Amino acid sequence: MPPKPFAFKLSTHHLPFHNLFSTSPFKNPSEKNIIHDPPFPSLPFLSLSLSPTLCVRALLLRQKMGSPPSAFCKQKAIVFLRFFMILFLCSIPEKPDLCSTSSFFNSTALSNKSLPNILSLEKLNLDGYFSFDNIEHATKDFGNRYHTHPAAVLYPKSVSDIASTINYIFNMGSTSAITVAARGHGHSLQGQAQAHQGIVINMESLQVPEMQIQVGEKPYVDVSGGQLWINVLHETLKYGLAPKSWTDYLHLTIGGTLSNAGISGQAFRHGPQINNVYQLEVVTGKGEVITCSEQQNADLFYGVLGGLGQFGIITRARISLERAPQKVKWMRILYSEFSRFSNDQEHLMSKNSFDYIEGFVIINRTGLLNNWRSAFSPKDPLQASQFISDGKTLYCMEIAKYFNSEESDLVNQKIENLLSELSYIPSTLFMSEVSYVEFLDRVHVSEIKLRAKGLWEVPHPWLNLLIPKSKISEFALEVFGNILTDSSNGPILMYPVNKAKWNNQTSLITPGEDIFYLVAFLSSAVPSSTGKDGLQHILIHNQKVLDFCSKSNLGVKQYLPHYGTQEEWRAHFGPQWEVFVQRKSTYDPFAILAPGQRIFKRR
Ligand SMILES: Cc1cc2nc3c(=O)[nH]c(=O)nc-3n(C[C@H](O)[C@H](O)[C@H](O)COP(=O)(O)OP(=O)(O)OC[C@H]3O[C@@H](n4cnc5c(N)ncnc54)[C@H](O)[C@@H]3O)c2cc1C
Repeated sequence: MPPKPFAFKLSTHHLPFHNLFSTSPFKNPSEKNIIHDPPFPSLPFLSLSLSPTLCVRALLLRQKMGSPPSAFCKQKAIVFLRFFMILFLCSIPEKPDLCSTSSFFNSTALSNKSLPNILSLEKLNLDGYFSFDNIEHATKDFGNRYHTHPAAVLYPKSVSDIASTINYIFNMGSTSAITVAARGHGHSLQGQAQAHQGIVINMESLQVPEMQIQVGEKPYVDVSGGQLWINVLHETLKYGLAPKSWTDYLHLTIGGTLSNAGISGQAFRHGPQINNVYQLEVVTGKGEVITCSEQQNADLFYGVLGGLGQFGIITRARISLERAPQKVKWMRILYSEFSRFSNDQEHLMSKNSFDYIEGFVIINRTGLLNNWRSAFSPKDPLQASQFISDGKTLYCMEIAKYFNSEESDLVNQKIENLLSELSYIPSTLFMSEVSYVEFLDRVHVSEIKLRAKGLWEVPHPWLNLLIPKSKISEFALEVFGNILTDSSNGPILMYPVNKAKWNNQTSLITPGEDIFYLVAFLSSAVPSSTGKDGLQHILIHNQKVLDFCSKSNLGVKQYLPHYGTQEEWRAHFGPQWEVFVQRKSTYDPFAILAPGQRIFKRR
């Protein structure tokens, strides 16, 4: 029997990204409107459970260190443990209701069943270690809205640490309710990398294998699933190589983005990151370590790519590389009409002449072009200085051409020819020339500035949508004509991608058409605000956008999806749902993995 999807009702929807974070001056970040763990099931349980827990851990630790505890302490601990166990067993309901529609995180049975079992994990002989203290960071993510507490964090030093842990939990079968979440860089938005009272695996501590780069005709890099993309960039550049497809922000892990898709301005050309992987090593929900690729264990390979962490933990990936350019010509041009903007984006995409195409929507921004001057130079400084953006909705296309120093003149000529085919507002051409690393790592510059002002760790109610090309004008008309008219709380990305370059066998769900747009509302909320920049206001707008999409039947799919009910997940996957459920029952039959996605309930 496949695991049952579980229902979880929350009144929010949303999602992720880029280099244009809002820099409004937030004050006094607080945690209003943030979802925390429910309190422990009952206070008596808490007070009884703490002492034996600590005692057992102290015993185990001392045994590990080869120093036998005193008979007195041991005896006392055992008596206490027995007493605790009896009370604990009495508190377990006879038959936990796996089909319950109540909140996952309120499940008393879950917490009660997990704790003693989790402590027994300490007996495993690992290269790394479990931490039961200092685990606060595992309750947080970039979204800063969902906070659930794990019971422990595993810091693995080897793949076998991960495999033994999961295998141990798998062998407990349904006597245990322990779940396991791989945590990459924790840049999820709604607790996807969290595990309530379960184990969070800190993937960044898995530093094996060391990065190995294969040069030659079909170059690739073998890299740990917990490695950051920025580190992959720096290492591969030493060989004059680099991955082909990126995200806008590189301080994310390989496993984290491959579990989603990894979409950026190169995706129209190379497909998303999940289409640029040759091979994976995966630890399944049974604790098996499996190597998979298009040729070997293909079902697992495609399942894991875009699989929201449901079928296994990616411990190693073989990523395809290309020759890296030295430099990038980076341009921005403005449009006041949406149809011209999208026509030009699609035109450039079809010509395949630029290396990167993105775009964003600007609503009522003061001194826009002046703000760009620190990084970009206007082609026509005088006219640019007279351009007024206040009160307007504008569409900015952002394009880039990679090149090496000796090709500069030739590339300039090519760019000039291509730009002459477009219909942007002539005075708004802005250009910049940067190194390849500066271009790819551009969002990090904003991150440093925002962190310095305390504005990075605010709630991020992001919403990412994939919209079929045939509906994009209708979408833009309603959203920028009616829903979001006077301001936005962060960048709104908007660019087309070409499905022909995307492999449709992965778990990623996209709209049915050959061309679709990524539209990303990357809002930041002022924590204490009840106004237009507050979380509630932004969530209401997000919901309005979603309601419009569903009422008008636009065939929109969420990217980095987040849903509250089984029906919504089914609708998201459409005809792919049966395959997804089947894969879950094959690779993670007890639904141990990635509970924070809230798709399947632990069995
Ligand atoms: C500032 C910012 C910019 C972004 N820009 C882009 C962008 O341009 N394009 C884009 O596509 N996305 C973008 N994202 C979204 C990002 O790709 C996802 O949120 C991604 O999951 C984050 O990676 P992470 O390493 O932080 O993963 P986490 O948040 O730690 O984990 C995400 C999910 O993947 C699972 N997981 C983590 N590691 C593994 C593993 N090794 N094996 C299996 N499952 C695993 C987790 O359990 C969780 O369910 C951005 C996010 C942020 C915050």
